[in-house]
Amino acid sequence: MAQKRDYYDILEVGRDANEDEIKKAYRKLAIKYHPDKNPDDKEAEAKFIEAAEAYDVLLTPEKRQRYDQYGHAGLEGMSTGYGVGINIDEILNDVFGEMFGGFRRGRSRQGRSLQTNLEITLEEAYTGKEASIEVPRIESCPECEGSGAEKGSTVETCPQCYGRGQVTQSQGFFTLQRTCHRCHGSGEVIQKPCRNCNGQGRVRVKREVKLKIDKGVDTGFEYRLQGQGEVGASGGVPGDLLVVLHVAPHDRFKRSGNDLITSTKISFVQAALGCTIQVNSIDGPNQLVIPAGTQYGDQLRIQGKGMPRYRSSSFGDLVVHVGIETPKNLNDEQRKLLENFDEVYEDTQDSGNGGFWDKLFSLIDDKDKD
Ligand SMILES: [Zn+2]
Ligand SMILES: [Zn+2]
Repeated sequence: MAQKRDYYDILEVGRDANEDEIKKAYRKLAIKYHPDKNPDDKEAEAKFIEAAEAYDVLLTPEKRQRYDQYGHAGLEGMSTGYGVGINIDEILNDVFGEMFGGFRRGRSRQGRSLQTNLEITLEEAYTGKEASIEVPRIESCPECEGSGAEKGSTVETCPQCYGRGQVTQSQGFFTLQRTCHRCHGSGEVIQKPCRNCNGQGRVRVKREVKLKIDKGVDTGFEYRLQGQGEVGASGGVPGDLLVVLHVAPHDRFKRSGNDLITSTKISFVQAALGCTIQVNSIDGPNQLVIPAGTQYGDQLRIQGKGMPRYRSSSFGDLVVHVGIETPKNLNDEQRKLLENFDEVYEDTQDSGNGGFWDKLFSLIDDKDKD
């Protein structure tokens, strides 16, 4: 066996390197020499194992201390308890975490969960609907039924790991355990890969998924469809499909919780005398009584004419913001009438309490300033 290289040289770090520096250095080498990136490259494989070994020693305080003091001999000279085996998969997982989950290919893995956005109209949120969503996702290959093997060809036990999915390698006093890269941990190899899925057993398809949308849903509402995500590798459980709703803005109604807000305009005479007008809610016309003396910006409610409450039989309200139109281009007769009215009106009102006419004239004043 060739002379063992210095662990610090292998990781290209100084002798005083701290944990972070060692991790960083190892990460770089693990990516560079990973067997998945270098198939059938014996040299890369040796470097990959060498780096893991260096990482294991330098990151274990007792081992590092012995190594610093006595070099490789210090470790080999130690009694049992050292070099009992390092698991590269564990190290990779430790260093890369979830981000490089793809390095760890087990026997079966749960499929990815998918998320999709669905836009519906306010009317659809009001009535509820049966939606159908097209989801691009990975499914089990229909040609080979997920086996990855061409029809008529066989799937055999992996000759590398004898079906265990893991291989054990000895290097020096180290026993290394890692996922078999011939079969990627499945323990099986395919003689003739399926042409439809290139032996992956999974294909990308666009699938139509049906979803029942409840009455009263709002933007941000989520439906989780179990098992409608991507199919897992090697028969793993499929992931979920998360559907996030967006209710599109409406040109006549604004939503505030379960209430709907709309606006209407009446004349200043209607506001002063009171009247009954027609206001549309989402499901049709309604009568709205405007009380005498209604002010600009007053809010009137029509109960039960808002949105349905989610999973309830009750409804929110329709809130009507009242706008009052000030007449423009008065003719002489109209002007005279208003002036006469103003004279008799002032005597009956407390001054300066912000009544209807105060508002009306302040609006006219504002207009004149323009
Ligand atoms: Zn296939
Ligand atoms: Zn194998």
